[in-house]
Amino acid sequence: MLSLRLIEILHYLYVALLHEGRLHSEKIKKRFLFFTHLHYLCTHIIIRCMIDTSAFQGKTAVYYTLGCKLNFSETSTFGKMLQEMGVRTAEKGEQADICLINTCSVTEVADHKCRQAIHRMVRQNPGAFVVVTGCYAQLEPERVAGIEGVDLVLGSNEKAYLIQYLSDRFSNPNDNLNPNDNLNPNDNLNPNDNVNDDDNHNHKVKRGVYKVEKTKDIKSFAPSCSRGNRTRYFLKVQDGCDYFCTYCTIPYARGFSRNPTIASLVEQAQQAAAEGGKEIVLTGVNIGDFGKTTGESFTDLVKALDKVEGVSRYRISSIEPDLLTDELISYCAESRAFMPHFHIPLQSGSDEVLRLMHRRYDKALFAHKIELIKALMPDAFIGVDVMVGCRGETPECFEECYDFLMGLDVTQLHVFPYSERPGTAALRIPYVVSEKDKKERSHRLLELSDEKTQAFYARHIGQEAEVLFEKAPRGKAMHGFTRNYIRVELPPTEAKPEYDNQLISVSLGEFNFDKSALKVHVNGNDNANDNVNDNDNDNHNDNLNANPNLKPET
Ligand code: SF4
Repeated sequence: MLSLRLIEILHYLYVALLHEGRLHSEKIKKRFLFFTHLHYLCTHIIIRCMIDTSAFQGKTAVYYTLGCKLNFSETSTFGKMLQEMGVRTAEKGEQADICLINTCSVTEVADHKCRQAIHRMVRQNPGAFVVVTGCYAQLEPERVAGIEGVDLVLGSNEKAYLIQYLSDRFSNPNDNLNPNDNLNPNDNLNPNDNVNDDDNHNHKVKRGVYKVEKTKDIKSFAPSCSRGNRTRYFLKVQDGCDYFCTYCTIPYARGFSRNPTIASLVEQAQQAAAEGGKEIVLTGVNIGDFGKTTGESFTDLVKALDKVEGVSRYRISSIEPDLLTDELISYCAESRAFMPHFHIPLQSGSDEVLRLMHRRYDKALFAHKIELIKALMPDAFIGVDVMVGCRGETPECFEECYDFLMGLDVTQLHVFPYSERPGTAALRIPYVVSEKDKKERSHRLLELSDEKTQAFYARHIGQEAEVLFEKAPRGKAMHGFTRNYIRVELPPTEAKPEYDNQLISVSLGEFNFDKSALKVHVNGNDNANDNVNDNDNDNHNDNLNANPNLKPET
Protein backbone atom coordinates (compact mmCIF):
# COMPACT_ATOMS: atom_id res chain seq x y z
CA MET A 1 0.00 0.00 0.00
CA LEU A 2 2.93 2.29 0.73
CA SER A 3 4.30 1.89 -2.80
CA LEU A 4 0.83 2.54 -4.23
CA ARG A 5 0.68 5.75 -2.20
CA LEU A 6 4.12 6.74 -3.48
CA ILE A 7 3.10 6.14 -7.10
CA GLU A 8 -0.06 8.14 -6.45
CA ILE A 9 1.93 11.07 -5.02
CA LEU A 10 4.25 11.05 -8.04
CA HIS A 11 1.25 10.88 -10.35
CA TYR A 12 -0.43 13.94 -8.77
CA LEU A 13 2.90 15.81 -8.67
CA TYR A 14 3.25 15.34 -12.42
CA VAL A 15 -0.39 16.37 -12.97
CA ALA A 16 0.25 19.59 -11.01
CA LEU A 17 3.39 20.32 -13.06
CA LEU A 18 1.54 19.59 -16.28
CA HIS A 19 -1.26 22.01 -15.39
CA GLU A 20 1.28 24.72 -14.61
CA GLY A 21 2.84 24.16 -18.03
CA ARG A 22 6.14 23.09 -16.48
CA LEU A 23 6.46 19.74 -18.21
CA HIS A 24 8.37 20.77 -21.32
CA SER A 25 10.80 17.91 -21.64
CA GLU A 26 9.60 14.88 -23.60
CA LYS A 27 11.60 12.65 -21.26
CA ILE A 28 9.73 13.95 -18.20
CA LYS A 29 6.41 13.64 -20.03
CA LYS A 30 7.19 10.00 -20.81
CA ARG A 31 8.01 9.38 -17.16
CA PHE A 32 4.77 11.04 -16.20
CA LEU A 33 2.78 8.79 -18.52
CA PHE A 34 4.62 5.79 -17.12
CA PHE A 35 3.65 6.69 -13.53
CA THR A 36 0.08 7.48 -14.53
CA HIS A 37 -0.25 4.10 -16.19
CA LEU A 38 1.46 2.35 -13.29
CA HIS A 39 -0.88 4.08 -10.87
CA TYR A 40 -3.87 2.88 -12.91
CA LEU A 41 -2.62 -0.73 -13.00
CA CYS A 42 -1.53 -0.92 -9.36
CA THR A 43 -4.73 0.66 -8.05
CA HIS A 44 -6.85 -1.89 -9.80
CA ILE A 45 -4.72 -4.92 -9.09
CA ILE A 46 -4.19 -4.09 -5.41
CA ILE A 47 -7.81 -3.14 -4.82
CA ARG A 48 -9.00 -6.39 -6.38
CA CYS A 49 -6.57 -8.42 -4.29
CA MET A 50 -7.70 -6.70 -1.10
CA ILE A 51 -11.38 -7.38 -1.56
CA ASP A 52 -12.86 -10.26 0.39
CA THR A 53 -14.90 -11.94 -2.34
CA SER A 54 -16.32 -14.54 0.06
CA ALA A 55 -18.48 -11.77 1.50
CA PHE A 56 -20.32 -11.55 -1.83
CA GLN A 57 -20.99 -15.25 -2.41
CA GLY A 58 -24.65 -16.05 -2.97
CA LYS A 59 -25.69 -12.39 -3.00
CA THR A 60 -27.98 -10.92 -5.64
CA ALA A 61 -28.15 -7.38 -7.01
CA VAL A 62 -30.42 -5.15 -9.08
CA TYR A 63 -29.30 -2.06 -10.99
CA TYR A 64 -31.17 1.01 -12.17
CA THR A 65 -29.60 3.70 -14.33
CA LEU A 66 -30.88 7.11 -15.32
CA GLY A 67 -29.30 9.55 -17.73
CA CYS A 68 -26.55 9.37 -20.29
CA LYS A 69 -24.49 6.65 -21.98
CA LEU A 70 -21.69 7.33 -19.53
CA ASN A 71 -23.93 6.38 -16.60
CA PHE A 72 -25.09 3.22 -18.38
CA SER A 73 -21.51 2.32 -19.11
CA GLU A 74 -20.48 2.82 -15.48
CA THR A 75 -23.40 0.82 -14.09
CA SER A 76 -22.63 -1.98 -16.47
CA THR A 77 -19.02 -2.02 -15.30
CA PHE A 78 -20.08 -2.11 -11.63
CA GLY A 79 -22.39 -5.02 -12.50
CA LYS A 80 -19.55 -6.85 -14.22
CA MET A 81 -17.20 -6.30 -11.27
CA LEU A 82 -19.80 -7.56 -8.79
CA GLN A 83 -20.46 -10.56 -11.01
CA GLU A 84 -16.74 -11.39 -10.89
CA MET A 85 -17.01 -11.22 -7.08
CA GLY A 86 -19.83 -13.79 -7.11
CA VAL A 87 -22.90 -11.54 -7.14
CA ARG A 88 -25.75 -12.69 -9.36
CA THR A 89 -28.18 -10.27 -11.02
CA ALA A 90 -31.59 -10.88 -9.45
CA GLU A 91 -34.28 -12.35 -11.68
CA LYS A 92 -37.37 -10.35 -12.46
CA GLY A 93 -39.54 -10.30 -9.33
CA GLU A 94 -36.77 -11.74 -7.14
CA GLN A 95 -35.77 -9.65 -4.11
CA ALA A 96 -32.15 -8.54 -4.25
CA ASP A 97 -29.54 -8.12 -1.50
CA ILE A 98 -27.98 -5.07 -3.16
CA CYS A 99 -29.72 -2.24 -5.04
CA LEU A 100 -27.57 0.16 -7.02
CA ILE A 101 -29.17 3.28 -8.47
CA ASN A 102 -27.00 5.46 -10.74
CA THR A 103 -28.66 8.87 -10.99
CA CYS A 104 -28.79 11.84 -13.35
CA SER A 105 -29.50 15.51 -12.64
CA VAL A 106 -29.69 17.08 -16.06
CA THR A 107 -33.14 18.60 -15.43
CA GLU A 108 -35.66 18.96 -12.63
CA VAL A 109 -37.62 16.13 -14.23
CA ALA A 110 -34.51 13.92 -14.04
CA ASP A 111 -34.17 14.68 -10.29
CA HIS A 112 -37.80 13.72 -9.78
CA LYS A 113 -37.38 10.48 -11.74
CA CYS A 114 -34.36 9.60 -9.59
CA ARG A 115 -36.36 10.00 -6.37
CA GLN A 116 -39.17 7.90 -7.83
CA ALA A 117 -36.73 5.18 -8.91
CA ILE A 118 -35.13 5.05 -5.43
CA HIS A 119 -38.53 4.75 -3.72
CA ARG A 120 -39.52 1.98 -6.14
CA MET A 121 -36.30 0.00 -5.64
CA VAL A 122 -36.59 0.27 -1.85
CA ARG A 123 -40.21 -0.87 -1.96
CA GLN A 124 -39.50 -3.80 -4.26
CA ASN A 125 -36.43 -5.00 -2.32
CA PRO A 126 -37.15 -4.77 1.40
CA GLY A 127 -34.03 -5.38 3.47
CA ALA A 128 -31.63 -4.80 0.57
CA PHE A 129 -28.51 -2.67 0.98
CA VAL A 130 -29.39 0.38 -1.13
CA VAL A 131 -26.59 2.44 -2.70
CA VAL A 132 -27.22 5.60 -4.71
CA THR A 133 -24.54 7.25 -6.84
CA GLY A 134 -24.30 9.50 -9.94
CA CYS A 135 -24.86 13.21 -10.58
CA TYR A 136 -27.99 13.69 -8.44
CA ALA A 137 -26.29 11.89 -5.55
CA GLN A 138 -23.30 14.25 -5.86
CA LEU A 139 -25.44 17.39 -6.03
CA GLU A 140 -28.03 16.55 -3.35
CA PRO A 141 -26.46 13.97 -1.03
CA GLU A 142 -28.36 14.99 2.09
CA ARG A 143 -31.70 14.79 0.39
CA VAL A 144 -30.92 11.39 -1.16
CA ALA A 145 -29.54 10.01 2.13
CA GLY A 146 -32.77 11.13 3.80
CA ILE A 147 -34.94 8.94 1.59
CA GLU A 148 -36.23 6.05 3.63
CA GLY A 149 -34.38 2.82 2.86
CA VAL A 150 -31.25 4.41 1.37
CA ASP A 151 -28.12 3.07 3.11
CA LEU A 152 -25.25 4.71 1.28
CA VAL A 153 -24.83 7.66 -1.07
CA LEU A 154 -21.59 7.83 -3.05
CA GLY A 155 -20.52 10.97 -4.88
CA SER A 156 -18.57 11.18 -8.13
CA ASN A 157 -15.22 10.64 -6.45
CA GLU A 158 -16.28 7.85 -4.12
CA LYS A 159 -18.14 5.73 -6.64
CA ALA A 160 -14.75 4.46 -7.84
CA TYR A 161 -14.54 2.68 -4.46
CA LEU A 162 -18.05 1.21 -4.56
CA ILE A 163 -16.86 -2.39 -4.44
CA GLN A 164 -14.73 -1.75 -1.35
CA TYR A 165 -17.66 -0.09 0.42
CA LEU A 166 -19.85 -3.09 -0.37
CA SER A 167 -17.14 -5.54 0.60
CA ASP A 168 -16.70 -3.81 3.98
CA ARG A 169 -20.41 -3.86 4.51
CA PHE A 170 -20.88 -7.56 3.79
CA SER A 171 -17.67 -8.64 5.55
CA ASN A 172 -18.71 -6.80 8.72
CA PRO A 173 -22.49 -6.74 8.65
CA ASN A 174 -22.66 -5.69 12.29
CA ASP A 175 -20.51 -2.59 11.74
CA ASN A 176 -23.19 -0.09 10.86
CA LEU A 177 -22.21 2.76 8.63
CA ASN A 178 -21.68 5.77 10.79
CA PRO A 179 -23.49 8.95 9.79
CA ASN A 180 -20.84 10.90 11.69
CA ASP A 181 -18.46 9.93 8.89
CA ASN A 182 -20.52 11.76 6.31
CA LEU A 183 -18.48 13.64 3.75
CA ASN A 184 -20.46 16.56 2.51
CA PRO A 185 -19.58 18.86 -0.41
CA ASN A 186 -21.67 21.64 1.10
CA ASP A 187 -20.33 21.29 4.66
CA ASN A 188 -23.60 22.57 6.02
CA LEU A 189 -25.12 19.49 7.56
CA ASN A 190 -25.20 18.65 11.18
CA PRO A 191 -23.77 15.14 10.96
CA ASN A 192 -25.13 14.18 14.35
CA ASP A 193 -28.59 14.44 12.96
CA ASN A 194 -28.93 10.88 11.82
CA VAL A 195 -32.63 10.64 12.51
CA ASN A 196 -34.94 12.58 10.33
CA ASP A 197 -38.48 13.65 11.17
CA ASP A 198 -40.14 12.74 7.95
CA ASP A 199 -43.29 14.79 7.65
CA ASN A 200 -44.67 12.64 4.88
CA HIS A 201 -44.51 9.44 6.87
CA ASN A 202 -44.94 10.98 10.29
CA HIS A 203 -42.48 8.59 11.88
CA LYS A 204 -38.77 8.43 12.53
CA VAL A 205 -36.69 7.02 9.70
CA LYS A 206 -33.05 6.06 9.70
CA ARG A 207 -30.89 8.22 7.52
CA GLY A 208 -28.40 6.85 5.01
CA VAL A 209 -24.76 7.81 5.02
CA TYR A 210 -23.24 9.86 2.26
CA LYS A 211 -19.68 10.06 1.01
CA VAL A 212 -19.41 13.02 -1.30
CA GLU A 213 -16.31 15.14 -1.93
CA LYS A 214 -16.33 18.80 -2.94
CA THR A 215 -16.26 19.35 -6.71
CA LYS A 216 -12.67 20.58 -6.67
CA ASP A 217 -11.60 17.40 -4.87
CA ILE A 218 -13.15 15.00 -7.39
CA LYS A 219 -10.03 13.41 -8.84
CA SER A 220 -10.72 9.72 -9.21
CA PHE A 221 -11.42 8.20 -12.61
CA ALA A 222 -13.56 5.08 -12.55
CA PRO A 223 -12.51 3.19 -15.72
CA SER A 224 -15.32 1.65 -17.67
CA CYS A 225 -15.56 -0.35 -20.87
CA SER A 226 -18.82 -2.16 -20.90
CA ARG A 227 -20.77 -4.16 -23.36
CA GLY A 228 -24.19 -2.57 -23.75
CA ASN A 229 -27.26 -4.75 -23.98
CA ARG A 230 -26.61 -4.74 -27.68
CA THR A 231 -23.64 -5.13 -29.91
CA ARG A 232 -21.64 -2.08 -28.96
CA TYR A 233 -19.09 -1.50 -26.27
CA PHE A 234 -18.97 1.83 -24.46
CA LEU A 235 -15.46 2.94 -23.58
CA LYS A 236 -15.20 5.80 -21.10
CA VAL A 237 -12.26 7.93 -22.19
CA GLN A 238 -12.79 11.05 -20.11
CA ASP A 239 -14.81 12.41 -17.18
CA GLY A 240 -15.74 15.86 -15.85
CA CYS A 241 -15.78 19.26 -17.55
CA ASP A 242 -14.03 22.61 -17.12
CA TYR A 243 -16.35 24.62 -19.36
CA PHE A 244 -19.04 25.80 -16.90
CA CYS A 245 -21.67 26.72 -19.47
CA THR A 246 -24.14 28.95 -17.64
CA TYR A 247 -27.10 26.53 -17.77
CA CYS A 248 -25.22 23.36 -16.82
CA THR A 249 -24.60 21.62 -13.49
CA ILE A 250 -22.45 18.81 -14.87
CA PRO A 251 -19.08 20.30 -13.84
CA TYR A 252 -20.41 20.53 -10.24
CA ALA A 253 -21.66 16.95 -10.39
CA ARG A 254 -18.75 15.30 -12.17
CA GLY A 255 -15.78 17.49 -11.30
CA PHE A 256 -13.06 18.88 -13.51
CA SER A 257 -11.90 17.29 -16.75
CA ARG A 258 -9.68 14.25 -16.31
CA ASN A 259 -8.68 11.19 -18.30
CA PRO A 260 -6.65 8.00 -18.18
CA THR A 261 -3.66 7.40 -20.49
CA ILE A 262 -3.97 6.42 -24.13
CA ALA A 263 -2.05 3.23 -23.30
CA SER A 264 -4.68 2.10 -20.76
CA LEU A 265 -7.53 2.85 -23.20
CA VAL A 266 -5.83 0.92 -25.99
CA GLU A 267 -5.56 -2.05 -23.59
CA GLN A 268 -9.29 -1.84 -22.85
CA ALA A 269 -10.13 -1.68 -26.57
CA GLN A 270 -7.92 -4.74 -27.18
CA GLN A 271 -9.75 -6.55 -24.39
CA ALA A 272 -13.13 -5.66 -25.94
CA ALA A 273 -11.92 -6.96 -29.32
CA ALA A 274 -10.70 -10.18 -27.68
CA GLU A 275 -14.22 -10.65 -26.26
CA GLY A 276 -15.64 -10.31 -29.79
CA GLY A 277 -16.58 -6.61 -29.67
CA LYS A 278 -16.74 -5.12 -33.15
CA GLU A 279 -17.94 -1.62 -32.37
CA ILE A 280 -16.82 0.75 -29.61
CA VAL A 281 -18.47 4.06 -28.72
CA LEU A 282 -16.12 6.54 -27.05
CA THR A 283 -17.95 8.18 -24.15
CA GLY A 284 -17.18 10.94 -21.69
CA VAL A 285 -18.57 14.25 -20.49
CA ASN A 286 -16.46 16.52 -22.71
CA ILE A 287 -14.34 14.04 -24.61
CA GLY A 288 -12.66 16.50 -26.93
CA ASP A 289 -11.00 17.87 -23.79
CA PHE A 290 -9.15 14.56 -23.43
CA GLY A 291 -5.55 15.07 -22.33
CA LYS A 292 -5.98 17.48 -19.42
CA THR A 293 -4.47 14.89 -17.07
CA THR A 294 -1.89 13.33 -19.33
CA GLY A 295 -0.79 16.00 -21.80
CA GLU A 296 -1.97 13.80 -24.68
CA SER A 297 -4.62 14.85 -27.22
CA PHE A 298 -7.95 13.43 -28.34
CA THR A 299 -6.66 13.13 -31.90
CA ASP A 300 -3.69 11.08 -30.62
CA LEU A 301 -6.18 8.82 -28.84
CA VAL A 302 -8.25 8.39 -32.01
CA LYS A 303 -5.14 7.51 -34.00
CA ALA A 304 -4.00 4.97 -31.40
CA LEU A 305 -7.41 3.28 -31.16
CA ASP A 306 -7.72 3.13 -34.93
CA LYS A 307 -4.77 0.73 -34.93
CA VAL A 308 -6.37 -1.78 -32.54
CA GLU A 309 -6.90 -4.96 -34.52
CA GLY A 310 -10.29 -6.60 -34.27
CA VAL A 311 -12.32 -3.43 -33.68
CA SER A 312 -14.15 -2.69 -36.93
CA ARG A 313 -16.02 0.42 -35.90
CA TYR A 314 -15.65 3.35 -33.55
CA ARG A 315 -18.14 6.12 -32.91
CA ILE A 316 -17.51 9.34 -30.99
CA SER A 317 -20.53 9.84 -28.75
CA SER A 318 -20.53 13.66 -28.71
CA ILE A 319 -17.87 16.32 -29.13
CA GLU A 320 -17.91 20.07 -28.55
CA PRO A 321 -17.60 21.99 -31.86
CA ASP A 322 -14.58 24.01 -30.70
CA LEU A 323 -12.76 20.76 -29.83
CA LEU A 324 -13.67 18.99 -33.06
CA THR A 325 -10.52 20.12 -34.83
CA ASP A 326 -10.11 20.21 -38.61
CA GLU A 327 -7.25 17.74 -38.13
CA LEU A 328 -9.56 15.31 -36.34
CA ILE A 329 -12.25 15.60 -39.03
CA SER A 330 -9.64 14.97 -41.76
CA TYR A 331 -8.28 11.99 -39.85
CA CYS A 332 -11.75 10.45 -39.41
CA ALA A 333 -12.37 10.81 -43.16
CA GLU A 334 -9.28 8.73 -43.88
CA SER A 335 -9.33 6.41 -40.90
CA ARG A 336 -9.74 2.66 -40.94
CA ALA A 337 -12.48 2.35 -38.36
CA PHE A 338 -13.85 5.75 -37.27
CA MET A 339 -17.34 5.96 -38.74
CA PRO A 340 -18.77 8.86 -40.76
CA HIS A 341 -21.02 9.74 -37.85
CA PHE A 342 -20.79 12.83 -35.64
CA HIS A 343 -22.82 14.15 -32.75
CA ILE A 344 -22.14 17.83 -32.10
CA PRO A 345 -23.88 19.99 -29.49
CA LEU A 346 -24.87 23.36 -30.97
CA GLN A 347 -27.38 24.36 -28.25
CA SER A 348 -28.36 27.57 -30.03
CA GLY A 349 -28.13 28.99 -33.52
CA SER A 350 -28.10 32.55 -32.19
CA ASP A 351 -24.75 34.15 -31.40
CA GLU A 352 -26.34 36.27 -28.70
CA VAL A 353 -27.72 33.18 -26.92
CA LEU A 354 -24.41 31.31 -27.36
CA ARG A 355 -22.72 34.26 -25.65
CA LEU A 356 -25.22 34.15 -22.75
CA MET A 357 -24.62 30.40 -22.43
CA HIS A 358 -20.83 30.97 -22.32
CA ARG A 359 -20.37 28.53 -25.17
CA ARG A 360 -16.91 28.73 -26.73
CA TYR A 361 -17.80 29.13 -30.41
CA ASP A 362 -20.13 31.03 -32.68
CA LYS A 363 -22.41 30.09 -35.55
CA ALA A 364 -19.67 30.64 -38.11
CA LEU A 365 -17.36 28.10 -36.45
CA PHE A 366 -20.16 25.56 -36.21
CA ALA A 367 -21.11 26.01 -39.87
CA HIS A 368 -17.45 25.59 -40.86
CA LYS A 369 -17.25 22.22 -39.04
CA ILE A 370 -20.39 20.94 -40.77
CA GLU A 371 -19.15 22.09 -44.18
CA LEU A 372 -15.79 20.41 -43.68
CA ILE A 373 -17.35 17.12 -42.56
CA LYS A 374 -19.68 17.11 -45.55
CA ALA A 375 -16.91 18.04 -47.97
CA LEU A 376 -14.78 15.10 -46.81
CA MET A 377 -17.58 12.64 -45.92
CA PRO A 378 -20.69 13.52 -47.97
CA ASP A 379 -22.67 10.62 -46.47
CA ALA A 380 -21.85 11.42 -42.85
CA PHE A 381 -24.69 11.33 -40.34
CA ILE A 382 -24.57 14.47 -38.17
CA GLY A 383 -26.71 14.68 -35.02
CA VAL A 384 -27.00 18.10 -33.35
CA ASP A 385 -28.14 18.96 -29.80
CA VAL A 386 -30.29 22.05 -29.51
CA MET A 387 -31.64 23.59 -26.33
CA VAL A 388 -34.82 25.64 -26.64
CA GLY A 389 -36.28 28.26 -24.35
CA CYS A 390 -33.21 29.02 -22.29
CA ARG A 391 -33.10 32.35 -20.52
CA GLY A 392 -32.35 35.16 -22.96
CA GLU A 393 -33.78 33.35 -26.01
CA THR A 394 -36.13 36.02 -27.33
CA PRO A 395 -38.50 35.19 -30.24
CA GLU A 396 -35.99 36.88 -32.60
CA CYS A 397 -33.14 34.73 -31.25
CA PHE A 398 -35.20 31.59 -31.73
CA GLU A 399 -36.09 32.51 -35.33
CA GLU A 400 -32.39 33.14 -36.01
CA CYS A 401 -31.63 29.69 -34.58
CA TYR A 402 -34.37 28.04 -36.65
CA ASP A 403 -33.17 29.63 -39.89
CA PHE A 404 -29.59 28.66 -39.14
CA LEU A 405 -30.55 25.02 -38.55
CA MET A 406 -32.74 24.92 -41.63
CA GLY A 407 -29.76 25.92 -43.76
CA LEU A 408 -27.34 23.43 -42.17
CA ASP A 409 -26.66 20.08 -43.82
CA VAL A 410 -27.25 18.04 -40.67
CA THR A 411 -29.23 14.82 -40.21
CA GLN A 412 -31.03 14.95 -36.91
CA LEU A 413 -31.77 17.41 -34.11
CA HIS A 414 -31.86 16.33 -30.47
CA VAL A 415 -34.11 18.94 -28.94
CA PHE A 416 -34.04 19.64 -25.19
CA PRO A 417 -36.26 22.21 -23.48
CA TYR A 418 -34.25 24.39 -21.07
CA SER A 419 -34.69 23.47 -17.41
CA GLU A 420 -33.77 25.84 -14.58
CA ARG A 421 -31.05 24.36 -12.36
CA PRO A 422 -30.37 25.71 -8.88
CA GLY A 423 -26.96 27.34 -8.48
CA THR A 424 -26.35 27.99 -12.19
CA ALA A 425 -25.28 31.37 -13.57
CA ALA A 426 -28.12 31.29 -16.13
CA LEU A 427 -30.55 32.17 -13.35
CA ARG A 428 -29.10 35.70 -13.38
CA ILE A 429 -30.31 36.29 -16.97
CA PRO A 430 -33.57 38.22 -16.59
CA TYR A 431 -35.41 37.20 -19.81
CA VAL A 432 -37.46 34.04 -19.13
CA VAL A 433 -39.25 31.98 -21.81
CA SER A 434 -42.72 30.68 -20.92
CA GLU A 435 -43.39 26.92 -20.85
CA LYS A 436 -45.90 27.37 -23.67
CA ASP A 437 -43.29 29.02 -25.91
CA LYS A 438 -40.74 26.32 -25.04
CA LYS A 439 -43.21 23.65 -26.16
CA GLU A 440 -44.01 25.42 -29.41
CA ARG A 441 -40.32 25.95 -30.21
CA SER A 442 -39.51 22.29 -29.42
CA HIS A 443 -42.34 21.17 -31.65
CA ARG A 444 -41.13 23.24 -34.60
CA LEU A 445 -37.57 21.97 -34.27
CA LEU A 446 -38.68 18.36 -33.96
CA GLU A 447 -40.66 18.73 -37.19
CA LEU A 448 -37.59 20.19 -38.89
CA SER A 449 -35.54 17.29 -37.54
CA ASP A 450 -37.95 14.71 -38.99
CA GLU A 451 -37.81 16.41 -42.39
CA LYS A 452 -34.02 16.39 -42.40
CA THR A 453 -33.73 12.79 -41.24
CA GLN A 454 -36.27 11.50 -43.75
CA ALA A 455 -34.55 13.35 -46.58
CA PHE A 456 -31.21 11.84 -45.52
CA TYR A 457 -32.66 8.33 -45.42
CA ALA A 458 -34.48 8.71 -48.69
CA ARG A 459 -31.25 9.71 -50.45
CA HIS A 460 -29.79 6.28 -49.70
CA ILE A 461 -32.63 3.99 -50.69
CA GLY A 462 -31.40 1.52 -53.32
CA GLN A 463 -27.76 1.67 -52.23
CA GLU A 464 -25.66 -1.10 -50.73
CA ALA A 465 -24.40 -0.83 -47.20
CA GLU A 466 -22.50 -2.73 -44.54
CA VAL A 467 -24.56 -3.34 -41.40
CA LEU A 468 -23.59 -4.54 -37.95
CA PHE A 469 -26.59 -6.57 -36.83
CA GLU A 470 -27.83 -6.87 -33.25
CA LYS A 471 -29.33 -9.87 -31.53
CA ALA A 472 -33.10 -10.36 -31.85
CA PRO A 473 -35.50 -12.94 -30.45
CA ARG A 474 -36.26 -15.80 -32.84
CA GLY A 475 -39.07 -14.96 -35.23
CA LYS A 476 -38.60 -11.20 -34.85
CA ALA A 477 -37.03 -8.66 -37.20
CA MET A 478 -33.33 -7.97 -36.69
CA HIS A 479 -31.99 -4.44 -36.46
CA GLY A 480 -28.60 -2.90 -36.99
CA PHE A 481 -26.80 0.21 -38.14
CA THR A 482 -24.91 1.13 -41.27
CA ARG A 483 -21.50 2.75 -41.03
CA ASN A 484 -23.19 6.15 -41.15
CA TYR A 485 -25.74 5.27 -38.48
CA ILE A 486 -28.79 4.47 -40.55
CA ARG A 487 -31.00 2.10 -38.63
CA VAL A 488 -32.06 -0.90 -40.71
CA GLU A 489 -34.59 -3.67 -40.29
CA LEU A 490 -34.21 -7.21 -41.62
CA PRO A 491 -37.56 -9.05 -41.85
CA PRO A 492 -38.04 -12.12 -39.60
CA THR A 493 -38.07 -14.36 -42.69
CA GLU A 494 -34.48 -13.35 -43.47
CA ALA A 495 -33.19 -12.92 -39.90
CA LYS A 496 -30.71 -15.56 -38.65
CA PRO A 497 -29.11 -15.93 -35.23
CA GLU A 498 -25.66 -16.13 -36.86
CA TYR A 499 -26.03 -12.56 -38.13
CA ASP A 500 -25.80 -11.29 -34.53
CA ASN A 501 -22.72 -9.06 -34.12
CA GLN A 502 -21.64 -9.63 -37.72
CA LEU A 503 -20.88 -7.17 -40.49
CA ILE A 504 -23.16 -7.97 -43.39
CA SER A 505 -23.60 -6.49 -46.83
CA VAL A 506 -27.21 -5.44 -47.49
CA SER A 507 -29.33 -3.52 -49.99
CA LEU A 508 -31.23 -0.64 -48.50
CA GLY A 509 -34.95 -0.63 -49.25
CA GLU A 510 -37.96 1.50 -48.31
CA PHE A 511 -38.90 2.83 -44.88
CA ASN A 512 -40.37 0.41 -42.36
CA PHE A 513 -43.90 0.91 -41.01
CA ASP A 514 -43.11 3.65 -38.47
CA LYS A 515 -40.23 5.16 -40.45
CA SER A 516 -37.77 4.32 -37.69
CA ALA A 517 -35.59 2.25 -40.04
CA LEU A 518 -35.04 1.22 -43.64
CA LYS A 519 -36.01 -2.29 -44.64
CA VAL A 520 -33.08 -4.28 -46.01
CA HIS A 521 -32.25 -7.50 -47.83
CA VAL A 522 -29.03 -9.38 -47.33
CA ASN A 523 -27.04 -9.32 -50.55
CA GLY A 524 -26.69 -12.75 -52.16
CA ASN A 525 -29.30 -14.09 -49.80
CA ASP A 526 -29.38 -17.45 -51.60
CA ASN A 527 -26.48 -18.27 -49.41
CA ALA A 528 -26.72 -15.68 -46.73
CA ASN A 529 -24.03 -17.16 -44.53
CA ASP A 530 -21.47 -16.30 -47.17
CA ASN A 531 -22.21 -12.69 -46.41
CA VAL A 532 -21.42 -13.01 -42.76
CA ASN A 533 -17.99 -11.57 -42.79
CA ASP A 534 -15.61 -10.47 -40.20
CA ASN A 535 -13.74 -7.74 -42.02
CA ASP A 536 -12.01 -6.47 -38.99
CA ASN A 537 -8.93 -5.46 -40.88
CA ASP A 538 -10.57 -4.20 -44.02
CA ASN A 539 -10.48 -0.60 -44.95
CA HIS A 540 -14.09 0.49 -45.31
CA ASN A 541 -13.53 3.98 -46.54
CA ASP A 542 -15.41 3.24 -49.71
CA ASN A 543 -18.54 5.21 -50.00
CA LEU A 544 -20.97 2.73 -48.50
CA ASN A 545 -24.43 3.18 -47.32
CA ALA A 546 -26.24 6.07 -45.97
CA ASN A 547 -29.86 6.10 -45.36
CA PRO A 548 -32.11 8.05 -43.20
CA ASN A 549 -32.38 6.93 -39.75
CA LEU A 550 -35.45 8.49 -38.29
CA LYS A 551 -35.10 7.95 -34.62
CA PRO A 552 -31.80 6.31 -33.89
CA GLU A 553 -30.40 6.47 -30.42
CA THR A 554 -27.35 8.64 -30.85
S1 SF4 B 1 -19.43 21.62 -22.17
FE1 SF4 B 1 -20.95 22.91 -21.13
S2 SF4 B 1 -22.87 21.77 -21.38
FE2 SF4 B 1 -21.22 20.31 -21.77
S3 SF4 B 1 -20.85 19.32 -19.78
FE3 SF4 B 1 -19.41 21.04 -19.96
S4 SF4 B 1 -20.47 22.73 -18.93
FE4 SF4 B 1 -22.04 21.18 -19.37
